[in-house]
Amino acid sequence: MKKLALRLRQEAVILVLAVLIAVLAWIEGANVAVVLAILAVVAVAALLRSPLVGPVKVSAAPEPPAADPHSVLQPMVAPLAALDMPLLVVDQDAAVVYQNPASERAMDSFPPGAHLSAKLRSPGILDMVRETIATRVPNQIEHSERLPSERVYIVRISPIDLPSANATGQSFFLLSFRDISELRHIDRMRSDFVANASHELRTPLASLRGFIETIQGPARNDPKAQERFLAIMFDQATRMSRLVDDLLSLSRLELKSHIAPDQKVDLVPLLGHVRDSLLPLAGDLDVTITLDMPQSKVEVTGDRDELVQVFENLMENACKYGQEGKRVDVSLRNVPGQAVEVTVSDSGGGIPAEHVPRLTERFYRVSVENSRSKKGTGLGLAIVKHILTRHRARLIVKSEVGRGTDFTVRF
Ligand code: ADP
Repeated sequence: MKKLALRLRQEAVILVLAVLIAVLAWIEGANVAVVLAILAVVAVAALLRSPLVGPVKVSAAPEPPAADPHSVLQPMVAPLAALDMPLLVVDQDAAVVYQNPASERAMDSFPPGAHLSAKLRSPGILDMVRETIATRVPNQIEHSERLPSERVYIVRISPIDLPSANATGQSFFLLSFRDISELRHIDRMRSDFVANASHELRTPLASLRGFIETIQGPARNDPKAQERFLAIMFDQATRMSRLVDDLLSLSRLELKSHIAPDQKVDLVPLLGHVRDSLLPLAGDLDVTITLDMPQSKVEVTGDRDELVQVFENLMENACKYGQEGKRVDVSLRNVPGQAVEVTVSDSGGGIPAEHVPRLTERFYRVSVENSRSKKGTGLGLAIVKHILTRHRARLIVKSEVGRGTDFTVRF
């Protein structure tokens, strides 16, 4: 019944017009039965004109669609995911609405919609985020982490200017984590190196100054003492120039570390030449150097002068630090299908295991006194390592206290 009343109301205009026409027709003298029949047909046709519909919901202007952060951020997701820097997008409540794979690796996944503080506890970062959300001014701080490993990041926050988000009254902010741990490590190494180099130079310099003052003062008229002091001064000056030579060698090697050598070098005559050049030192130390090499050529790709430096350093160390073993054996192996290897072995006191991994560090010495007394600079094995890295070759150290040490170069 209600539906019929509604329908009558919807078709009221047509029905009123039909009734009016019928009344006019009747006034003009038309047959009443015909007029009523036509009126009935028009009324039924009007009521059947369209299916019955429910009440039409009358409402105000349509609401904007609920703004889904994911759809708003969609165009940014692919580029952010491709970057290897950890990145987070947070909304105006500091809830994480997007996290790229690099940040999942660096700090685990945030549960969907979780607040930034769910995984990031640093008060410095949280304060900075709060401030930027309030002021929309980009900001950054340095943040260090101790666990799981020591890392240093520059954490930066900046508002993202997305027209689609502005239209819906939302705001988003991008948090980026730039890892500067490696830079810090290099900085520390550089300053350690400068400190070590200055320290190494300062000692002979101080001693030189002392002797000069003595010769000018108390020993002014003592030719015997002067002669003795001048000999020591000569040793100190020689030590300083050795150190400067080694430092220059290292810096030259660093400059060309990325250029692989391209000469063909035959190791057989090269090792013979190095052994011959060390015969005077070996004689002084009462050490014999033996060579075990194939008759035929053994060629490797390398830089001749640099390879001479490598084997000079290794044989000289073996003579100096393995002196009590009285012999140094150098062998060259060239087995088909295997890497060419040169091993320098001594039968000296050996190196305690804890020192072995650090031997190629600059200025690292098992005993500083022992090295100094043997005219060492602490840079020999660092130079060897640099040269071998450029040659794509490896240095393998095997040592046993009381038995001796083997240094093997594998090409
Ligand atoms: P250095 O100028 O002191 O010889 P190196 O870099 O050549 O510097 O060697 C570093 C340290 O490694 C040496 O001071 C010494 O303690 C140790 N070392 C090197 N070769 C040997 C060896 N054959 N036997 C024992 N110790 C060695």
